[in-house]
Amino acid sequence: MQPFQFITAANERSAIEAASRAKLLAGGTTLVDLMKLHVERPAALADINGLPLAKVTELDGGGVRVGAMVRNSDMARHELIRRRYPVLSEAILSGASEQVRNMATTGGNLLQRTRCYYFRDTALPCNKRSPGSGCGAIDGYNRIHAVLGGSEHCIATHPSDMCVALVALEAVVRVRGPQGERTIRVDDFHLLPGDHPEREHRLEPDELIVSVDIPAVTFAVHSTYLKVRDRASFAFALASAAVALDVRAGTIQQARVALGGIATKPWRAHEAEAALIGRPARADVYRAAAEAALRGAVPRRHNAFKIELAKRTLVRALTRVGELA
Ligand SMILES: Cc1cc2nc3c(=O)[nH]c(=O)nc-3n(C[C@H](O)[C@H](O)[C@H](O)COP(=O)(O)OP(=O)(O)OC[C@H]3O[C@@H](n4cnc5c(N)ncnc54)[C@H](O)[C@@H]3O)c2cc1C
Ligand code: SF4
Repeated sequence: MQPFQFITAANERSAIEAASRAKLLAGGTTLVDLMKLHVERPAALADINGLPLAKVTELDGGGVRVGAMVRNSDMARHELIRRRYPVLSEAILSGASEQVRNMATTGGNLLQRTRCYYFRDTALPCNKRSPGSGCGAIDGYNRIHAVLGGSEHCIATHPSDMCVALVALEAVVRVRGPQGERTIRVDDFHLLPGDHPEREHRLEPDELIVSVDIPAVTFAVHSTYLKVRDRASFAFALASAAVALDVRAGTIQQARVALGGIATKPWRAHEAEAALIGRPARADVYRAAAEAALRGAVPRRHNAFKIELAKRTLVRALTRVGELA
């Protein structure tokens, strides 16, 4: 047991003040887990559960603002989310269990950490946990690891389902710190590992996530999230696809595609979108889009199967939405 100080943040200002010296505690489903494993060893925790950031509200222009402390189950089941962004509701409900989702928050989900076995075991080398110690996975057991976005220092997948849908929807993270407020697109929020896998996102240590803003994407009423995993529930994605299509008279006018479970960050598949737009909503077009999405994939010893799995996952998700649209 590592002793730590426990602070209760009474308001946003005290949370921001605490953030530079304490880890913020939201639902605790990532942080407390990692503290038990000694992967996270904060000197202090600042509980932000009392902050008034647990609302889902409509934005002018048809978008939706989701407060950082909205629980994952509340977001997934909110009428506005279910109706306007089925892809997001389905993505959240495909993750974890109802009990975990009842605790997990929007802000915490954005900052959840990889499930790489080497990262979660302090006896093993890991550049992300202990910079410079090496990567146990690259020449080790890498069945769950990334085929897109990896570097010679880290190939860990980003584990979130919610973030994959948010990237497809072009959502924006609103953060506040001592310098005031700023916004970061979810697509830019998470960093590729590059030479510094320990740097996972663009949030500064003294910043608080206050909300995620999802813009109006009218055709997202025709969207879905398909997740493939080792068990039917309570398992992270081996491959997943978030898809929204605007199909008129059989032709794809607009497309959003993002992939999960196969990349080091929630992966927007622009190449797949380009291969879809202006073409007929048809099986051969879907397969061509999937080929384009995975063109840059780099297989490792145990994860080559993910390339074909991701392609088939994407084709099936496109087929499902194509039939709805
Ligand atoms: C058994 C299990 C299975 C799971 N399965 C899945 C799955 O299939 N798919 C999936 O996507 N996820 C899964 N998860 C992960 C789960 O979604 C995350 O643990 C959860 O979303 C984290 O949210 P939290 O509020 O509990 O975060 P916490 O654990 O409280 O915090 C996580 C991190 O975020 C920081 N933080 C939290 N809120 C803020 C804020 N407002 N501003 C700044 N920093 C903040 C904390 O300081 C901490 O560093 C699983 C988790 C468990 C335990
Ligand atoms: S893949 Fe990344 S998280 Fe996993 S051992 Fe290598 S450096 Fe660590």
